[in-house]
Amino acid sequence: MAIVTPQDNLQVISPHLAREWHPSRNGNLTPRNVTSKSGMNVWWVCNKGHEWQNTVKNRNRGTGCPYCAGRISVKAKVPKFKK
Ligand SMILES: [Zn+2]
Repeated sequence: MAIVTPQDNLQVISPHLAREWHPSRNGNLTPRNVTSKSGMNVWWVCNKGHEWQNTVKNRNRGTGCPYCAGRISVKAKVPKFKK
């Protein structure tokens, strides 16, 4: 795992992603605890209130909210992910 430094953490590298960091579902984890390329699967919440899980790495590749993108129906409350 990459080492988080004051220079390489999500809060510093991608403040726009840090704003969508889920405030309660990630436990004690904060954008300052993960690197911008972390493969960790974490929770996000968009400005419309949709909640979803994705890796930090994918978010940095430009992947946004799957509900807003129409990839997941908003009706499906609990998104199913392949295990
Ligand atoms: Zn959304």
